Amino acid sequence: MTSHILGSKAITDRILCSWIRCKRKAWLDLNENNQKKIWSPHRALQLDHQHKSVEEFLQNSPQRGVQGFHRGAEEVVGVRLKGVTPLGLSIEGHPLLLQKIKGKSCWGAFSYIPIAVRQGHRVTREKRLSLAFWGYLLEQLQKVEVKYGLVISKGSNGLEVEKIIFTTKIKYELLDSLKRINKDISKGDPPDLTSDRKKCNLCSWKDFCDKKAAQEGDLSEVNGVGAKRKNLLQEVGIRDLSQLASTSSNNLSNSLSKYGEAHQRIASQLINQARVQINLVPKRLAEKMLLTELKFAEGVLIYDIESDPDAKHDFLHGFICLRRQKNRKWSLANAEYKPILNFEYDNEEKIWKKLKNRLKTFKNFPVLHYGETELRSFYKLAKRQGESEEEIKEMTIRFIDIHARLKEGWMLPVSNYSLKNVAQWLKFRWTHRRSNGARALLWWRQWRGSNEIRNQKSKKLDLILEYNKDDCIATWKVAEWILSKE
Ligand code: SF4
Repeated sequence: MTSHILGSKAITDRILCSWIRCKRKAWLDLNENNQKKIWSPHRALQLDHQHKSVEEFLQNSPQRGVQGFHRGAEEVVGVRLKGVTPLGLSIEGHPLLLQKIKGKSCWGAFSYIPIAVRQGHRVTREKRLSLAFWGYLLEQLQKVEVKYGLVISKGSNGLEVEKIIFTTKIKYELLDSLKRINKDISKGDPPDLTSDRKKCNLCSWKDFCDKKAAQEGDLSEVNGVGAKRKNLLQEVGIRDLSQLASTSSNNLSNSLSKYGEAHQRIASQLINQARVQINLVPKRLAEKMLLTELKFAEGVLIYDIESDPDAKHDFLHGFICLRRQKNRKWSLANAEYKPILNFEYDNEEKIWKKLKNRLKTFKNFPVLHYGETELRSFYKLAKRQGESEEEIKEMTIRFIDIHARLKEGWMLPVSNYSLKNVAQWLKFRWTHRRSNGARALLWWRQWRGSNEIRNQKSKKLDLILEYNKDDCIATWKVAEWILSKE
């Protein structure tokens, strides 16, 4: 491992983005062995969205390189900009796209502004500062101030364009960040894990950092400890998982009382969870039956949705139909996978009919799902299709959230209660080891962009269906475990 020498390398736009996400990530990107990274579908999804948004924005083919500026091209790509900050730090950026506007620069009666692509519904700090970073570099080259940049994004209603003014505040924030980045990446050791570990799900260093967190018993490993609570626990002198497990509930409750009732009330829950994680033995929280609805059920439907959140499109409603055997036992050998694929965005009426039929055909079967997504999406779709509250209630009364029931009755030795984590603890393995919702979405987008789209049969679609079926089976595995303890 080599330590970065202060000022010996330029700070790039990539380092800036990494640092905004997590200071540790910027350090690891520069100093750790890249082979320890894992491939993350989020980056591929981001690039796909970027490509589509830029394609929608451009009227003509952009010109490549600095010659484009000299020729006064409408749009320029493929430029590497270099510069220095007032503190003498070298910086380097590779703007996505630059657009010509009226004005005055060293090339003539025009100048350029930078353009970035937004993912999601709002402009993040990362986007704002990378745009300002490109603007700052660009003004050193074109010898005229860059007053604003554009953030574009292709959404379900077309291209959205937002103007970001480079205020004194943004410029100050950028220069201050660069100063702090230089300090952080010059350290001999990596910064601590981010306190908001949710971010790690999108990061290519996830496995590397998960190992470290588990080895060190980091507090963020305890279910229920997010960024804020971790800080509070540290403030009252609890530094790791084993210390939390050995604390008395009264002591912790008293120490946390100054931060509000909610933190005080959760003290014993956190301690119990930490103990379960250390002892590796599940703890029962409620003696009552958790899945009474299944006691006399002849069968169940297990439901899992795959969606494209940017396009607000649920592209797959996956069901497994599981009938009870004659001897009253449950067996996955009887399972039938029955997916409903939603190929078009504007096909909702047809999809709704199919969903209603599915529920009608298996009219007495409870509908099992993991988490809130399925019920929420089903409800919204029903509303859009004009169903009355009464009709919706009649249908959704059969829905059972296995995640909620599990948490009501059990504490498990897992760092979070996501379907992946819990089912893996139960030794269930997905057919494709690294598959997840983001990867399924990537397969969906790749399929839609491919030549195979017409025949509705393809390897990518098969992968999506396989993944969704595995999610349904994993949901059943959790339900089956709960049943085994009733
Ligand atoms: S996995 Fe988490 S802690 Fe590690 S670098 Fe990424 S975001 Fe930071």
